[in-house]
Amino acid sequence: MADYDLIVRGGTVVTETDQFRADIGIRAGRIAALADNLDGGPVMDAAGLMVLPGGVDSHCHIEQLQAGGGADEETFVTGSTAALAGGTTSVVTFSTQFKGGGVLGPLAEYRRRAAAGAMVDYAIHQIITDPTDAVIHDDLPQVVAGGVRSLKVFLTYDPLRLDDRQYLAVLSAARRLGCLVTVHCENYDAIAWRSAALLRDGRTAPKYHAWSRPPVVEREATHRAIALAELVDTPIEVFHVSCPEAAEEIDRAKRRGVLVWGETCPQYLVLSAANMDQPGFEGAKFMCSPAPRDATATAGLWDAIRLRTLEVISSDHSGWSYDGPRGKRSAGDAAPFTDIPNGVPGLAARLPLLWSEGVATGRITPSDFVRLTAGQPARLFGLASKGRIAPGADADLVLWDPARRTRLTNALMQHAIDYTPYEGMEVTGWPVATLLRGKIVMRDGVVDAVPGSGRYLAVPPYGMIRPRGVVPDGFDAAAFC
Ligand SMILES: [Zn+2]
Repeated sequence: MADYDLIVRGGTVVTETDQFRADIGIRAGRIAALADNLDGGPVMDAAGLMVLPGGVDSHCHIEQLQAGGGADEETFVTGSTAALAGGTTSVVTFSTQFKGGGVLGPLAEYRRRAAAGAMVDYAIHQIITDPTDAVIHDDLPQVVAGGVRSLKVFLTYDPLRLDDRQYLAVLSAARRLGCLVTVHCENYDAIAWRSAALLRDGRTAPKYHAWSRPPVVEREATHRAIALAELVDTPIEVFHVSCPEAAEEIDRAKRRGVLVWGETCPQYLVLSAANMDQPGFEGAKFMCSPAPRDATATAGLWDAIRLRTLEVISSDHSGWSYDGPRGKRSAGDAAPFTDIPNGVPGLAARLPLLWSEGVATGRITPSDFVRLTAGQPARLFGLASKGRIAPGADADLVLWDPARRTRLTNALMQHAIDYTPYEGMEVTGWPVATLLRGKIVMRDGVVDAVPGSGRYLAVPPYGMIRPRGVVPDGFDAAAFC
């Protein structure tokens, strides 16, 4: 009888602290051994390659339900294909609530779709858009009992945003139930005020999207999101930090002991507002919120990554095409920026872009890369079996060619979206094979996985997001909300 179901032989294993030559023995979907010379099972040759933990993308919009019915163009099958092609084996996606409705119905439908289609393992963020008493007290305890421990809130966007009192209600529920709150931080009124003025002045082109939401708008909301989380004593993660101004607010809070983490995304490291300033409607392909900034901002983000102010790099993959019924051009080529859907696709590009811009340039080490793209997101979202190469962990691995140069094309992304904002960009570093729980699910760009083979990751209580126990006057208001 073979000792192992598979042996990954001769690669350079990269962990968050080390880099060493080792064979990896896999048994029953888990890493069973790490040693110099393993025998006793089929062999996968990794000589000349690095072996990294499978990517954990903790912020992806996949088959997200839409208010008007239906869902994102990016389905669990196509989104999983893109993920595996790009070396990502686990994702955290979004179940949503629609204003005036509950959370349990959409969550059940979302779980059904995921169970049918997913080919990566997945956990779920619950978006709260309407925190009524019934949602807070009746629905959320059931959501958490079902293994969802991340609540997502928006401080801007018309159908989604919460005011401060509503945000406090969600923070309070999260504190009582043992959840992390993830926050989209931009000031709703400031954006509405500036957008109205831009439109009045005839400034409607895609590039004015960036003008409608300058860094100070993000800084203010980041500060407020953190201050209110500090008031309630609930841990939060600030999503998609686009500028050093917002990172600075996170850094200041961390220094006084507040439990806050920061995420950024490749689009803020490789794109800029200038991408939106193109003839015609082309700039819409680069529109996301917050907006990409400039080279100075990007340099500041790299500093924040090195200082560990920003600890997670996700894709914020968005499920809309350029053309298509809900796509960028759905309101026509003359649509003002306020009518153009926000978001860029990036599931498959995330790891190659970060390696190329981060490791290949010397800004970060391979171990930093592993921490930012797998280890820290797994820890922060309570995915205990994910994001590391160690005995007992799930055998989610990427065989990585650190030197391969690749010109990015939309076909290589393998998503359902009809464009990539990174078209034509040349990157260094590429995933040549992906293993999910010991099974080879991608080799040389060919994804071989079965819809529904992805597992739901129910998240139990975990220590990293335990509140500090520090509340003003020693009065825990959240217990009485
Ligand atoms: Zn998002």
